Amino acid sequence: MIYSPKLLKESLENNRFNLKKKFGQNFIIDENIIDTIINKAKIDKNTLVLEIGPGAGALTYKLASTAKNVLAYEIDVTLEEILKNNLQEFNNVDIIYEDFLKADVVKQIKKYNFEKLYVVANLPYYITTPILIKIIEDKIAVDKIVVMVQKEVGDRFKAKPNSKDYSSLSVYLNYYFNTKKLLDVSRNVFMPKPNVDSIVVEFSKKERLPLKDEQIFFKLVRDAFKQKRKNLKNNLKNYDLNKIEEILKKYNFDLTVRAEQLDIDIFIDIANNI
Ligand code: SAM
Repeated sequence: MIYSPKLLKESLENNRFNLKKKFGQNFIIDENIIDTIINKAKIDKNTLVLEIGPGAGALTYKLASTAKNVLAYEIDVTLEEILKNNLQEFNNVDIIYEDFLKADVVKQIKKYNFEKLYVVANLPYYITTPILIKIIEDKIAVDKIVVMVQKEVGDRFKAKPNSKDYSSLSVYLNYYFNTKKLLDVSRNVFMPKPNVDSIVVEFSKKERLPLKDEQIFFKLVRDAFKQKRKNLKNNLKNYDLNKIEEILKKYNFDLTVRAEQLDIDIFIDIANNI
């Protein structure tokens, strides 16, 4: 396999392949990092793994060795020959050459038998957040997500109230998943070398929180964060503010509070009682 800069370079050159910045193509060239990701993800022979962006197949190769099936989405069709070569020994890998953001994943996974569904990927950095939002909004029933992302982005996912990175996305992710950092990854293990370091983050499915109506909750969170600098009185003008004030009082807040100060339990309490 292509776990050295030399072999990867050769493989790309033999296929006249040019790395494309616009697709966030920074390929991993360190086998140890891949092994660590695979070990920490705890994939087994009952697992269907979705991979977004197999690239030249470095991660895909080890996913295929450990999982029951791998279904990978690659936007760049010019990688087809390289992937065919690098993954020829497996019959449990399917690659769909399509933009993951446009794919009908729920339909495409129906043909597989599996007990657990994981997403494991070194994500294209320019669409990290849209990919996670798609997984949530399309209701792709993942048990776990293990993804390599830029360090700053990963920090945002783990943000707590009152930090500058806390946003409606933090609340959504926190509603569905427990989030934890699995490892730090140096920029030196990629080709080409990016300008920033990365981390691998794990999102594991959470017990459902006691929410009466998800739609109301998501709308409330979106509206509350609409203008980050403004307080709830302004952002939630169209809601029953008396009722909201009454709920906030229990937590020693009033309507001058900003969304970024509230943790998920308070949003749930409001959504369940308005
Ligand atoms: N998995 C490989 C590795 O770790 O060496 C490559 C990772 S590279 C950071 C991201 C990959 O995602 C590239 O192969 C890129 O072409 C692919 N990609 C970018 N945008 C995509 C999209 N919208 N849908 C599917 N794949 C995409």
